Amino acid sequence: MAQDFADRVAALAVRYPDNLALQAFDPGWYASLTPALRARLRKCMNSGLENPDSQMGCYACQPSDYDDLRPFFARVISRYHRVSEEARHVSDWRLSGVEGLPEDGVLDLARFGLPPLSMRVRVGRNLADLPLPGAMSRADRLRLEARMAAVFDRLIARPDFGGAYHSLTPGHARQIDAAAYRRLVDAHIMFRPMDGDRYLEAAGIAAHWPHGRGCYVSADRAFIIWVGEEDHLRIMAMQRGTVLNDVFDRLRAALDLIEGLAGLRFAWSDDYGAVTSCPTNLGTGMRASLHLPLPRLTRGGTDTRVREIARPLGLSVRGIGGEHTPVGADGTVDISPSARLCITEAGILAALYKGAGRLIEAERAA
Ligand code: ADP
Ligand code: MG
Repeated sequence: MAQDFADRVAALAVRYPDNLALQAFDPGWYASLTPALRARLRKCMNSGLENPDSQMGCYACQPSDYDDLRPFFARVISRYHRVSEEARHVSDWRLSGVEGLPEDGVLDLARFGLPPLSMRVRVGRNLADLPLPGAMSRADRLRLEARMAAVFDRLIARPDFGGAYHSLTPGHARQIDAAAYRRLVDAHIMFRPMDGDRYLEAAGIAAHWPHGRGCYVSADRAFIIWVGEEDHLRIMAMQRGTVLNDVFDRLRAALDLIEGLAGLRFAWSDDYGAVTSCPTNLGTGMRASLHLPLPRLTRGGTDTRVREIARPLGLSVRGIGGEHTPVGADGTVDISPSARLCITEAGILAALYKGAGRLIEAERAA
């Protein structure tokens, strides 16, 4: 039994050298595990086995998986994030210590001659006392949504938040119809349908779609919490402007507030910081992005040139609708620092600011 699985992994590992989970698997260690731990590892690896073209090839399914299956996860994390297997993540939102920033600490893109742009900072967070999305039952998903609805009621009652919760759960008191959902997706507020995504399906993360899924949107539509996507929660601030601190500070303040609300305890790892489903997001769980128009560098609708310039700056390039979507019609791309782990939150924001400056310089020179 242990041998069958190990043989399957070994055979795929030869054919898919870029699948980190397949490469990190150690048959001797696997054989030494209890049957229960072996089953947990198999579950974490299922997405990458069914989709061997995956880069990461695994998702955590329990908040304690990173600790309980550490020899495996330490290896994939170390290879993906290019940190040592002993690395410890440290969180820090203070911009003051970060090098190369304006003295007043205001990260204003207008300094680069940029007009107001859509800025977004999100973090992934998971509750400590529920399975991660890959292992949730339908009842778990509804429980998560119900618990969050109580938190949202408290936000909605506050003058500085207000807004509403929109549920996708059939029959939910706050269920929205298909057209309203579409409008929220088109406005970049709500996540896209998860069913049909072969990676998320094989991981168990898309299961029971659309039950237990929804999003809270503040009255000014600039503070948003997703429920039931790849992590229990994706918490974000998003608005048009040039001062990156506006979204960063708003997210920080809201996170502090939410964490203080009764009954919510996020999953943390001593070594890896915020626990997220996908090991790529561990640490800060943060992606800070900008919708940046680069019409010259994306001439012909391709982002190849932008990627070449962005990569050494530590920036990822996505399409206008997010990951796996094309460049916008006007040449707008989504840029964000790639690092999440063993970088501070402040470091991520600084990397976005400096990277945007370099990219716009390259655009003008093109
Ligand atoms: P993430 O994984 O960080 O949530 P995705 O790539 O999955 O990001 O995109 C999710 C949604 O967020 C998409 O609709 C995408 O267009 C939107 N989005 C991301 N960054 C921005 C931004 N700076 N401005 C507006 N929308 C954004
Ligand atoms: Mg995403």
